[in-house]
Amino acid sequence: YEEQIIISHKMESVRRLTSSYAHEIKNMLTGVKGFAQLALQTENTEQAKSYMEKLLSIVDSVSMNIKEILGFGREFGKNPEIIELKDVIKNLSTFLKASLRENIDLILDFEGRPLTVFADKTDIEKIITNLVLNAQDAMPEGGEIRIQAKVKQIPDKFISLTGEKELAKEYICLSVEDTGVGMDEQTREKIFEPFFTTKGEKGSGLGLTTVYHIVQMLNGFIFVESEPGRGTKFEIYIPLKQ
Ligand code: ADP
Repeated sequence: YEEQIIISHKMESVRRLTSSYAHEIKNMLTGVKGFAQLALQTENTEQAKSYMEKLLSIVDSVSMNIKEILGFGREFGKNPEIIELKDVIKNLSTFLKASLRENIDLILDFEGRPLTVFADKTDIEKIITNLVLNAQDAMPEGGEIRIQAKVKQIPDKFISLTGEKELAKEYICLSVEDTGVGMDEQTREKIFEPFFTTKGEKGSGLGLTTVYHIVQMLNGFIFVESEPGRGTKFEIYIPLKQ
């Protein structure tokens, strides 16, 4: 694991996000136009039909994406309050356990002392839900998902990645670790980019973008360690609120 420390930290600003979305949608519309033209050009009705079907499926994903974008960035950070992370995770995990497949074990592991942060509860739930569902997707044969929370300093190996942002005195480290398929470096580098997905039609590629965005808003950091065949660990550092 040690040698394969990776870090994916991309995406500076919401502005950059917006332009990626715009770009992606423009590409999809090019596809729509292309299939419409092909359908118009062919004499073969069956062929035309199949072009129209492809066109419709692109239209569906455009509208799905727009829906997500409209909800994106706005809802976050609406009702920040002092929350105990342990309570939020415990409550959420009852719900998560019920929705995970049977071959997935969810393990919670907390430090005893208060783990309070100043955040919107829904945002924290969104982060955990996204990470846990991704972990499940990474374990088609089943496995273990471990959610940990404790007070922890940002490890030296990550410090060079924290950039110019001023560091808080103390952080809570929230981690979600799985024993799944892991990622190669090429994948790791792209995971926070909007619309990047390896799940084809089933993925939106917006889950980790959302997570990244929320973590930035909380003045936190996110790091990922992953290795093909060995699993993945996401670590999120959020300033401790006393
Ligand atoms: P989506 O889940 O819709 O694909 P995400 O932004 O949540 O979108 O994730 C982007 C990609 O990152 C996934 O398609 C997958 O390739 C990779 N990924 C995320 N979490 C994990 C994980 N725990 N294990 C392996 N790969 C992961």
